[in-house]
Amino acid sequence: MSEDLTLLDDAFARFLERDIAPDYESWVEAGSVTRAAWEKTGAGGFLCPAAPEELGGSGGSFAHDAVIIRRLGLAGFDHFGIALHSAIVAPYIQHYGSPEQKERWLPGLASGKLIGAIAMTEPGAGSDLQAVRTTAVRDGNQYLLNGSKTFITNGQLANLVIVVAKTDPSAGAKGVSLFAVETDTVEGFRRGRNLDKLGFKGNDTSELFFNDMRVPADALIGPEEGQGFYQLMEQLPQERLLVAVQAMAAIERALALTLTYVKERKAFGKRVLDFQNTQFKLAELKTEATIGQVFVNDCIARHVAGQLDSVTASMAKYWTTDLQTKVMDECLQFFGGYGYMNEYPISRLFADARVQRIYAGTNEIMKVLIARSL
Ligand SMILES: Cc1cc2nc3c(=O)[nH]c(=O)nc-3n(C[C@H](O)[C@H](O)[C@H](O)COP(=O)(O)OP(=O)(O)OC[C@H]3O[C@@H](n4cnc5c(N)ncnc54)[C@H](O)[C@@H]3O)c2cc1C
Repeated sequence: MSEDLTLLDDAFARFLERDIAPDYESWVEAGSVTRAAWEKTGAGGFLCPAAPEELGGSGGSFAHDAVIIRRLGLAGFDHFGIALHSAIVAPYIQHYGSPEQKERWLPGLASGKLIGAIAMTEPGAGSDLQAVRTTAVRDGNQYLLNGSKTFITNGQLANLVIVVAKTDPSAGAKGVSLFAVETDTVEGFRRGRNLDKLGFKGNDTSELFFNDMRVPADALIGPEEGQGFYQLMEQLPQERLLVAVQAMAAIERALALTLTYVKERKAFGKRVLDFQNTQFKLAELKTEATIGQVFVNDCIARHVAGQLDSVTASMAKYWTTDLQTKVMDECLQFFGGYGYMNEYPISRLFADARVQRIYAGTNEIMKVLIARSL
């Protein structure tokens, strides 16, 4: 933590308390955050902190994203999909966009006028990204996109969607390209329903459909077709580290909530904390949380220095999210029946944790990647 990062952390914590806390539960109830909340967060300077200042960002690094994501998790507001927007969608534009594309989209993403999503997964292609069937065919100065996507985070509100499509279905990984689709201006784009999920209720997750959707040729990200798979492979380590940062924040919050509870709750005339089982279990979890945090901090430092490899990022994603589900399960147990009630935050933390082992590449895929390097 530098002074700059500490200032950001304090300012964002105050912003959350003042501007997000009053409405957060109504968003969870409604299944989606509002556009106004996005714009308010952008106006506060908390979106796309790693984008250059002249394009609306703060000229920061992934450390700035990490501070924001951790604070969001500690406050219990992580259904608000700004992590994906700032640290997954914006970097594709920032790293691979032409100067015109950066100027066209980054200021909008930083202000919250544009809400970002990334559409990789399809009904028939999740882990196996090369199996995507969405096609993009060049037609004069446009591309014609056909296909469908599912499980897309921010899918109901997003108006800048990065779509993974095949520009050459016979070329395997070399036939994959990314397109930045401004959904407000294209025909042939349709959103499905807001999918009903086990957790992350306040975050909209949707199917998207492209039916002869025409986008301008300069929606292609990168100088030429066929770069998409390589762009994804380069950016996925950051996505995986981001999930690890979210996992550690949720763990920190769960342990704090549990400690408060077991100090107050009494059984057999003692505090629940006074049972040796409680002390030993919490000692174990605190130890594992500390190990995880040290590892994730090291990954962040390496990533900021441009030295985080994909295998280490996969280790961080798989190990911390496995730990997260274990911590939530064991912490919930200390709440007894109250832990199963939705009005207790530990129940939401338990439900939200489960998806962390599934998205951003399942934990089995993380192990495939690690095993390949052995
Ligand atoms: C809430 C939520 C939000 C999401 N947000 C997004 C988003 O914004 N954008 C997006 O593009 N996608 C998103 N996803 C999709 C997510 O990335 C996929 O669900 C995930 O990659 C797994 O794909 P799948 O569901 O098709 O499972 P499958 O690929 O069908 O996998 C099924 C099972 O088989 C296992 N498996 C598959 N291949 C192997 C292998 N080689 N070795 C061993 N085991 C294997 C998997 O680990 C899993 O256990 C989201 C998903 C959820 C649930």
